[in-house]
Amino acid sequence: MTANLIDGNDLAKKIRSEVAARSAVLTARGHQPGLAVILVGEDPASQVYVRNKIKACKDNGLYSSFEHYPYDLTEAQLVARIDDLNKNPKIHGILVQLPLPKHIDTHKVIEAIAVEKDVDGFHLSNAGALMTGAALFRPCTPYGCIKMLESISFPLQGTYAVIIGTSNIVGKPMAMMMLHAGATVTLCNSKTRDLGSHTRKADVIIAAVGRPNIVTADMVKPGAAVIDVGINRDNAGKLCGDVDFPRVKDVAGWITPVPGGVGPMTITMLLVNTIEATENALRKATK
Ligand code: NAP
Repeated sequence: MTANLIDGNDLAKKIRSEVAARSAVLTARGHQPGLAVILVGEDPASQVYVRNKIKACKDNGLYSSFEHYPYDLTEAQLVARIDDLNKNPKIHGILVQLPLPKHIDTHKVIEAIAVEKDVDGFHLSNAGALMTGAALFRPCTPYGCIKMLESISFPLQGTYAVIIGTSNIVGKPMAMMMLHAGATVTLCNSKTRDLGSHTRKADVIIAAVGRPNIVTADMVKPGAAVIDVGINRDNAGKLCGDVDFPRVKDVAGWITPVPGGVGPMTITMLLVNTIEATENALRKATK
């Protein structure tokens, strides 16, 4: 292996110890940070994600509430529940686990969350503010990727970054954050012609597609940093990312593993956003 590993578990541990310290300070002042987690339906992957988020709160001194509703919950009922949480002073962040059942309009639900409690950073106000570099909260997964690059002092300024995948929760906010850090950015999607012609020029590649081996060794410039956001199962049922890790690691300069890469950082940045939401609320209250 020539590439250096960017260990998400290791970095997450360091950031979580800072989170725990900030949480302890807030709790001592009578403002324990609180995250409300809402799950609708029985999607098995969502249940695992939600469990991990609640555990991360508990392990780091944050309060969390968990509401699990049946699949047939109506949109109006869900929005009413969010309204209650918006007014609850013990709750500083609200997370609605996605995807929601098809009969519920995800946009309407996200817009129902108070902007100052939108710790996922998906509200239109936060997504729009990210364009100007002034978002109250940045979406956790791309925020975690930026922290991983910062941890290796990767000089984003002036580099060429290629992001594969353009979702609202990963690819697009990732592009904005990279742009603000001074990178020249290209976004690729399923219609991109000759993906490799872009990635081969890239100093940093972010793969966020959801398809194994979308990035192969011949698509990577020697020494590039490769961040793998994808979560997939290979033919043997083993967890894997979007990058052909065994071969790309011999070409890249830096690489993130799956599991143990971006995943733990996503949850960590959710904790960071919840701490910041609490600090913001306290500042507002004491003004
Ligand atoms: P998504 O909404 O399904 O978006 C996938 C993107 O990939 C789309 O922009 C799509 O293009 C593009 N794409 C599909 N096939 C492609 C191809 N052959 N070449 C280039 N681009 C292609 O996915 P998402 O929610 O962003 O998630 C992406 C992956 O990241 C998934 O595996 C997900 O599980 C994982 N994820 C991980 C974390 C974490 O914490 N580690 C967090 C979030 C997501 P079009 O727009 O043209 O369809």
